[in-house]
Amino acid sequence: MSETLKIIISGAGIGGLTAALSLARTGAQVTLLERAPVLEEVGAGLQLSPNASNILQDLGVLDRLAPWSLAPEVLRIRRARDGADLARMPLGPLADARWGAPHLVVHRADLQRVLAEACAASPLITLRTDVDVLGFASVTEGERSSVQVGIRDTGKHARVDGDVLIAADGLRSNLRERLGLGLADTPIYSGRTAWRALIPAAAAPASALRVETNLWLGAKAHLVHYPIRAGDLVNVVAVIEDPWRGNDSTDIWRDPADADPKYLKRMFGGWARDAHDILDAAPQWRRWPLFERRFAPRWSLDNVVLMGDAAHPILPFLAQGAGLAIEDAEALGRAFATSGGAVRAAIKMYENERIPRASDIALASRRQGAIYHMSGPMALVRDAFMRRVTPDGMLRRVDWIYGYRKGAGARRRLLP
Ligand SMILES: Cc1cc2nc3c(=O)[nH]c(=O)nc-3n(C[C@H](O)[C@H](O)[C@H](O)COP(=O)(O)OP(=O)(O)OC[C@H]3O[C@@H](n4cnc5c(N)ncnc54)[C@H](O)[C@@H]3O)c2cc1C
Repeated sequence: MSETLKIIISGAGIGGLTAALSLARTGAQVTLLERAPVLEEVGAGLQLSPNASNILQDLGVLDRLAPWSLAPEVLRIRRARDGADLARMPLGPLADARWGAPHLVVHRADLQRVLAEACAASPLITLRTDVDVLGFASVTEGERSSVQVGIRDTGKHARVDGDVLIAADGLRSNLRERLGLGLADTPIYSGRTAWRALIPAAAAPASALRVETNLWLGAKAHLVHYPIRAGDLVNVVAVIEDPWRGNDSTDIWRDPADADPKYLKRMFGGWARDAHDILDAAPQWRRWPLFERRFAPRWSLDNVVLMGDAAHPILPFLAQGAGLAIEDAEALGRAFATSGGAVRAAIKMYENERIPRASDIALASRRQGAIYHMSGPMALVRDAFMRRVTPDGMLRRVDWIYGYRKGAGARRRLLP
């Protein structure tokens, strides 16, 4: 790169922070602008599959995460009515051997803190909190184009200038709204809500403390739980089909929710005792309506480009939202490193690689949700099929996700 590139990133979530690290490695000067006054303890558990942990390893943050992460031994898929195993996918050391990096479970806040610490250690990255990014104007003078970013900094209007603006501002990205993607480009409620809870280990049933990821399948509902924070907490996600009339939160990470556990328990009537023990142990629930957007044919306008949930908010049924944001971050860094500072070329390279990959995962996540929530004869067929899949067959089915290699652009192989 001949001149130091000035990159502005809106949003210091998992995507924005990882992008800052990845871009700083190319020698760019990065300014991260985050609306929240402080990066506080928000969110819940995340599964970090090897496609994501591989990149964090390269960026040197995986070791720092080690004290707070766990590597589940197995993914157990269980039948709601009696808890019987339908399938088991071995993970643990096998994940490392097969995909070159561990499959981990973490608390989002721990990952965010570790990434923020790594950013603070880089002289090329400046993180400014309490800064709301309001909009942008692209400016072209001769050969050179730049971007002027309007902000509200601790309540006062101001401007920051750079060569590129990366919108990592999440599902309700206000920068995406300025990209001219049309009036229909709004978040769409999926008809499902995720109820999330964190159970302190001391209050959790012993079965929930095993270092494994449990996925329970029932009619129109599923339940996921695994221990996080080195075993101090159990993360629980209960997903139900729900007409939902609640508060349409603009800040999903921070707003408390109006979650009535009695309603949730009714939705899990007929489920095995073990599942109810876990639901009963939750001290408090947060209710997260799950949204998607239509898939955008482009993610950029001039020198402004989307990433993470701002580009592709997906349903969480393959646990890949943060993983994709991390992949985006790596791809941005690589595109800018190889384009020699040519901004538009770098953005094009990034879009060409990432749009097919993210749309494949979005589609597969949606299908996975339909499979998880089958009922009646369809569920019987699904269960019979799952019981026949060997552990190796399970691993092969996720190779295209977990074994994703940088720049591979590999197309999806269909899930069952
Ligand atoms: C129930 C559930 C379970 C999930 N489980 C998993 C999982 O197991 N594995 C996985 O990989 N993913 C999972 N995900 C998805 C994952 O949480 C998201 O995809 C990921 O966090 C997106 O990261 P992001 O950085 O793109 O956006 P966000 O985390 O939403 O970050 C956006 C940031 O931008 C800031 N911001 C917004 N607007 C502005 C503005 N105007 N100016 C400045 N800053 C702004 C916000 O404050 C925030 O800090 C799950 C999601 C849900 C709902």
